[in-house]
Amino acid sequence: QMAWMTDAKGWIYWYNQRWYDYTGTTFESMQGWGWEAVQHPDLLGGVKERFIAALASGKDWEDTFLLRGKDGTYRWFLSRAVPIRNASGEIVQWLGTNTDISEQRKIEEDLKESEERFRSLAETLPQLVWVTDARGKSEFASKSWEALTGVKPRGEEQWKAVVHPDDYDNINKTWMRSLATGDVYKYDVRLRSKTGEYIWHSVTGEPVYDKENNIIKWVGAFSEIQHIKEEEQRKNDFIKIVSHELKTPITSIKGYVQLLLMLLEQEQEIPLPAQINSSLVRIDKLVTKLTRLITEMLDLSRIEAERLELQNETIQINYLVEEAIEDIRHSHTNHTIAITHDYHCAVYGDKNRLEQVIINLVTNAIKYSPDGSNIEVFIRKQNENQVAISIQDFGIGIDKHDQEKIFERFYRVEGKTEQAYSGLGIGLFLVKSIVERHNGSLSVESERGLGSTFTFVLPVVAAG
Ligand code: ADP
Repeated sequence: QMAWMTDAKGWIYWYNQRWYDYTGTTFESMQGWGWEAVQHPDLLGGVKERFIAALASGKDWEDTFLLRGKDGTYRWFLSRAVPIRNASGEIVQWLGTNTDISEQRKIEEDLKESEERFRSLAETLPQLVWVTDARGKSEFASKSWEALTGVKPRGEEQWKAVVHPDDYDNINKTWMRSLATGDVYKYDVRLRSKTGEYIWHSVTGEPVYDKENNIIKWVGAFSEIQHIKEEEQRKNDFIKIVSHELKTPITSIKGYVQLLLMLLEQEQEIPLPAQINSSLVRIDKLVTKLTRLITEMLDLSRIEAERLELQNETIQINYLVEEAIEDIRHSHTNHTIAITHDYHCAVYGDKNRLEQVIINLVTNAIKYSPDGSNIEVFIRKQNENQVAISIQDFGIGIDKHDQEKIFERFYRVEGKTEQAYSGLGIGLFLVKSIVERHNGSLSVESERGLGSTFTFVLPVVAAG
């Protein structure tokens, strides 16, 4: 800090060494009002005027100005002076200081500039951009927010007024979870526009960290996805109609094929080319495959419409696994399937649906591993309350980045190896949905080229 002293009239009679070090001047040139020489000419008039006014009023003085250093460049200073009085209260001298605030001003200016940049960016984006503090309290909302909803998203009440009542609880839960865990916040939600219609938006929010890795803010945006949702709905409706329409003729075809097979067996004395029988058997298998695909599509639309009904009962899971796999063994003779029962227990659920889960995972294991290889099924105790059923294959495996996506609807891994297998990419989505409807979870561990292990965990109702 620089320091200086004046007499009662403001005539400077002393500076500390720092003043001379910075300005490169001498006492002779600086005494009295010599300091005017190192002031910036553009500011000097105002500075002088305010200083003289302070001298006259006898009140503390404070100002900011530019001072020229000995290298000829100017820096910003905050200057303060206080009057010193004698016993009878008269001002006898002034004591002043100058503090270099150039760095601070630069930081403030940079900050202001970057804030302005953020604001103009946020305002030009079509998304509804928002910023909250670490605890989720709103700090900024772009104008587009108000343009859409007609209100500022400033508190619980406004928030409740714009979110569709059916989405309100879930989006809040998701937000609270992100606030608690620091996980990225992502949700699809209907927002009420000022004209009263609800428009689908997808929100994404990410935490901002300080150097110590503490969350200091959340920044995010709502993007309109109404047209995507409408497309999705049309696609779902289409899948539903197609699968319904296909189901009836396919069921009839299956019936006729089986009737023919039966007749052939009964009327053996009629000489018929051998090919007829083998062709019918082949047709029967293909129709079964087709039926399964159509059933998958129908199940998908049920899940989509949240109309998958479960007929729950207590099930001995070990029997269920054995039964389901026995059926698969008959139709898939090129793989060996071994079951290990490390734990015996009962679960509460829908027998057919859980069987579907097992069949799906085991047929996938067969489909994505070479003929002659083994499939291993393990039933293990996960913990006191849960059982884990794992299906392990030694097939093509799944890359890390695909492992999460394979549970999404219609997702199929695209690669040379995978192209050889047909499928709709619905199976795992159904399996996951069914398992979750049973309050369970589904996961995968896999390494490319070495094989995969799919595990689903279910709550246990009775052990043994
Ligand atoms: P689909 O088998 O009809 O394509 P799924 O939903 O059952 O659909 O599976 C999605 C994708 O996950 C498959 O396309 C495949 O790439 C991959 N996948 C599933 N199971 C396995 C497995 N056991 N081994 C390797 N890849 C698998």
